[in-house]
Amino acid sequence: MYSTILLAYLQVAVCVGINHPNPRPPTVTYLPVKHIRCGKSSPTGKCCGLYYGPPGWPYRKIQIAGGCDSIGLLQHEMVHDLLRQRDGDPDGKHKDPAFHECVTGSLDEE
Ligand SMILES: [Zn+2]
Repeated sequence: MYSTILLAYLQVAVCVGINHPNPRPPTVTYLPVKHIRCGKSSPTGKCCGLYYGPPGWPYRKIQIAGGCDSIGLLQHEMVHDLLRQRDGDPDGKHKDPAFHECVTGSLDEE
């Protein structure tokens, strides 16, 4: 499992143009649920993944709902983390082309 996480992290880092990412990827937790309740982050209030990385916070976390797991989902959440490292902003509105260019397949949900 950890190698999958590290691989997604390093691949997305290269894709978004970061040659020296934080050596620690975010902590990834897989939850045995179909969806995570995420309030206003999604129009339905349900998300498949969530990224937590407030500015100035030393820890970054990703939660993934096992019921909708996919490699693309993990990459998507890594894009949030690496955009935060690159720009200081995780781009919660998904405006950066990296959400298409650095993710396998396409995701409609968070
Ligand atoms: Zn997202």
